[in-house]
Amino acid sequence: MQLFELTRALVDTESITGNEERVGLQLFDYVAALAARYGGHAERPEVEPHRHNVLAYWGDRPAVTLSTHMDTVPPFIASREDGEFIWGRGACDTKGIIAAMLKAAEGLLEAGARGFGLLFVVGEERNSAGAYHAAAQPRGSRYLINGEPTENKLALGSKGALRYEIAASGRMAHSAYPELGESAVDKLLDALAAIRRIALPADDLLGPSTLNIGVIKGGRAPNIIADQAAAEVMIRLVGDSAATRDAITRAVSGKAEAREVLEIPALRLGSLPGMETTVVAYTTDIPAFGGAWGTPFLIGPGSIHVAHTLEERVPKRQLADAVGIYQNMVRQLLKD
Ligand SMILES: [Zn+2]
Repeated sequence: MQLFELTRALVDTESITGNEERVGLQLFDYVAALAARYGGHAERPEVEPHRHNVLAYWGDRPAVTLSTHMDTVPPFIASREDGEFIWGRGACDTKGIIAAMLKAAEGLLEAGARGFGLLFVVGEERNSAGAYHAAAQPRGSRYLINGEPTENKLALGSKGALRYEIAASGRMAHSAYPELGESAVDKLLDALAAIRRIALPADDLLGPSTLNIGVIKGGRAPNIIADQAAAEVMIRLVGDSAATRDAITRAVSGKAEAREVLEIPALRLGSLPGMETTVVAYTTDIPAFGGAWGTPFLIGPGSIHVAHTLEERVPKRQLADAVGIYQNMVRQLLKD
């Protein structure tokens, strides 16, 4: 099957998260045939009943692993194509990427390369169940080339996120007698003013850490001293969060409570000379792998801006280019 035909066949196998069994069997058939032809090894590690990752490698171990996820978001959209694009659910996230990785592997094997593998996982769009499972069973991989749509640019990193709820409490009183009460709004404003004065770090690669007070609410009426006030704050992280968290704690001290709701760490990814690069904002399976399959790289054809939309598509040109890009990366990393 040719690259575009294979992409369409994968798109046409519905694999919304939780329903990956059929596409997993389709992929297993494909890699098992390559394993038989080129003396490799193929298996289907069970993540949950009816949900299997697909792993294949050639040589003693996969020193370099091409990997992405096989699940998609809903709803299912069947494939179609025109001169420029292949359309359909998963076209860029990530059925086209899987097809490009399979074709890259085929070409590498035909040229005699060994010591690399393919790993397709379930569950990325929900909770990375497949990546966590694979991370618990490492196979000696030193480099993980993770496929997500980056328009074929090598992603060097992604900003993280740190979210807080800031809550202040006070005591109600008639607004004509403020000395009888304690204003939660005043305390919250002081806490937020102190938060806004925090000098956030900057990173050479990821740029500045930024802060947004996205929600603010509180009080009951203009003639009542407010007993409750709260705000929601989101910080984009560019490195270790410890100093920022300490600064938040100090800023609100004596005025309000800061409750941490969510932290997604900033990521720094592997780079290779001579490749076009980018920085991305979305999350991937890479944190779930936790380095267990080696230094992570992130690259793939298609744009994240159309992933998860009804207009999902992948440019045929980028799809075809991705085959060579993956092959070059595997060759380069195998030398390392
Ligand atoms: Zn994806």
